[in-house]
Amino acid sequence: MSRRIEGDRLIVATHNAGKLAEIRDLLSPYGLEITSNADHGLPEPIEDGDTFVENARIKAHAAAKATGMPALADDSGIEIDALNGAPGVHTADWAETPRGRDFVMAMKRVHNALVETGAEEPWRARFCCTLVLAWPDGEDMVFPGKMEGRIVWPMRGEQGHGYDPIFLPEGYEQTFGEMDRWEKNRISHRADAFAKLIAGAFE
Ligand code: IMP
Repeated sequence: MSRRIEGDRLIVATHNAGKLAEIRDLLSPYGLEITSNADHGLPEPIEDGDTFVENARIKAHAAAKATGMPALADDSGIEIDALNGAPGVHTADWAETPRGRDFVMAMKRVHNALVETGAEEPWRARFCCTLVLAWPDGEDMVFPGKMEGRIVWPMRGEQGHGYDPIFLPEGYEQTFGEMDRWEKNRISHRADAFAKLIAGAFE
C-alpha cells in the first residue's frame, strides 16, 4: 500500500536517544512535530519477532495504537553469511552484559564464531535497517534498507558505533568505523531505508 503522512505529528517508536536524534535530522525538512515513546510514557514492547520487519512492526503498531498518531519504528542489525545470518535480529543481544552493552566484546564474539566455523575470507555480511510506518487504524508501510560488505579483523577505526569497526562496505577501503560520519550516513543501510520512506510517504 502507499499512503502519505496526514497531519503534522509523528511519534518515533524508540527509547534510543541516538536513533531519535538521527531520525529528527533526517525528517527535519518535513515540518513534523516529532515526539518519542518517552514523551508519552510508553513502555518498550517486547521485540520477539524473528525478522527485522516483525520487530519494527511490533514497535510501530504499539506506539500508533497507544497514541492515535502515525508512528515510525526502525529495527536494524548485521547478517553474516558464514554464521547463517547471525547475529541478525539478535545483533544488540550479542553485546549484552550484566553491566550494559559491550560492543568490543560483541565484535570479538563475531570474530571467534567466524574462526570456529573455519569459513574462508571474505566473510560476506550486510547491515540491514527496516523502517515501519504504522497508522492507528492498523495499516502500515515497510521500507527495507541494506548495505553489503564484509567482516574484517582486527577492528579498524574509532568513529561510529556498534559493530562499525569490523564492517567494510563493498566498494570502499575504510570500515564504517574509519569513515567520516557524513559519508557513512550517505551510503548506510539506514540512509537506504530513509530514502525509500521519504519517497514513499513524504514526497
Ligand atoms: P535495535 O535497536 O534492536 O535495532 O538494534 C540494532 C543493533 O544493531 C544494535 O546493537 C546496533 O549497534 C547494531 N547496528 C545497527 N546499525 C548499526 C550501524 O550502523 N553500525 C553499527 N552497528 C549497528
